[in-house]
Amino acid sequence: MNYYSLHHTAPNVSFKEAVIRGLAPDRGIYFPEKITPLPKDFIENINRYSHEEIALHAIEQFVGDAIPKNVLKNIINETLSFDFPVIPIEENIATLELFHGPTMAFKDVGARFMARCLGYFNRNSTEKVTVLVATSGDTGGAVANGFLGVEGVDVVILYPSGKVSEIQEKQLTTLGNNITALEVDGVFDDCQDMVKTAFLDTEIKRTLTSANSINIARWLPQMFYFFFAYKALHKQHKNIIFSVPSGNFGNICAGIMAQKLGLPIQHFIAATNVNNTVSNYLQNGEYVPQKSIATISNAMDVGNPSNFIRIQELYNNNLETLKKHFSSYSFTDAETKSAMKLLFNEHQYVADPHGAVGYLGLKKHNLKNAYGVFLETAHPVKFLPTVESTLNQKIDIPSQIKEIMTKEKKAITISNYKELKHFLMR
Ligand SMILES: *Cc1c(COP(=O)(O)O)cnc(C)c1O
Repeated sequence: MNYYSLHHTAPNVSFKEAVIRGLAPDRGIYFPEKITPLPKDFIENINRYSHEEIALHAIEQFVGDAIPKNVLKNIINETLSFDFPVIPIEENIATLELFHGPTMAFKDVGARFMARCLGYFNRNSTEKVTVLVATSGDTGGAVANGFLGVEGVDVVILYPSGKVSEIQEKQLTTLGNNITALEVDGVFDDCQDMVKTAFLDTEIKRTLTSANSINIARWLPQMFYFFFAYKALHKQHKNIIFSVPSGNFGNICAGIMAQKLGLPIQHFIAATNVNNTVSNYLQNGEYVPQKSIATISNAMDVGNPSNFIRIQELYNNNLETLKKHFSSYSFTDAETKSAMKLLFNEHQYVADPHGAVGYLGLKKHNLKNAYGVFLETAHPVKFLPTVESTLNQKIDIPSQIKEIMTKEKKAITISNYKELKHFLMR
């Protein structure tokens, strides 16, 4: 399987090269040349397959011969070593909980899969690959954990000093081994700028790659969730609609890929906070990227979602086709908090702010005879102060978080690009 750049001015590349590069040389993101629907009887008999078998079916064609089947099976088994429960909330609404992985955020699956692919590709190389990431909190933890101990890969994470939660900081800074945390005297945008500069700096001789949802190995495994939810629900419920709390739109775009593979999904809702570039576009046909606005669902504070171009490609760049299958609604922090309270008071469900935005997406859409599933993308403990103050309720701290809180923080402080470059050129 080969991949082309959505800027259409770079050569097509293999799965391996697309994973190592992350972004094409023309700065476009990669997209598969061909998407072949899965056999009908696989979808009809999905009940008979384990999560691991479903995942293998879904992703096999995209990996092609870049990874031997037995290795790919191992990668999938290691990636999926936790649960993906579907919890009923209301008569026609359920939530798909994606936070049962090691860092309690849905990005665990993509990060673990990508890490293992990269480890495999680099297995015989004497030169290490360095994954360089800037994080505003959530991504960094999942990436750090996913890549921990993977041979041949070093991870360098930049985070803004004093701007991430205590739990998030512990998740970034206590792992050691092949993970280095750089504490930046600045804000998230400074971290992001430094990372971008490093990628363009030809004096740095290390192989640098990124680990955000631009990378196909982080994006594609997110298809699995939609298959798992369908497996859990399809006997009792028809006409399934997914509402996906969206920031860079990688997760929802993976859902649309699952639909392309033949999974019978009736409709997609991209639920966002006030960063509403996409819902504006659906309304008036003009795509105008915005500067991001800070909200309580901060993993979705994105003004120019990087995967939206993939969604357009999946719908043949036709706005009318897109609108038939896809809606997007935007919600304020006040609405999000009300939804969190309602879910807790009426349904005894503690949602994090992102999941609550997903729930709002379903409430706004007319479900008619459909069954709505919103994705719960992070455990409420990841957004502890907001959740506790909104619900006026203490949240139990899960054991994997308690354990990390006792570990010692190790970070290198940097304050400008020169210091980052110095670190990368050691
Ligand atoms: C990253 C993230 C999102 C947004 O996912 P995208 O794929 O970027 O749309 C939503 N919720 C949480 C908790 C996240 O960490």
